[in-house]
Amino acid sequence: MIVHLQERGRIDVARVCFNCVHFRPNVHLNVAAPHHCAFVDRPFGDRALQVNCPDHQTGASP
Ligand code: SF4
Repeated sequence: MIVHLQERGRIDVARVCFNCVHFRPNVHLNVAAPHHCAFVDRPFGDRALQVNCPDHQTGASP
């Protein structure tokens, strides 16, 4: 859903999990919470993917 909204330009892509340096997608075997946020050091599922997260951090520019 979030990816779909991003692709259509309906939400800001700057502060979502998908482009955050702390996002570790599909690293856990738990299907309910397969992703990991390295910032808070916790697993989470698709329903908890963040939009406009205050802890979001983009990668450093080269
Ligand atoms: S810091 Fe926020 S945007 Fe980044 S992975 Fe964690 S929950 Fe997602």
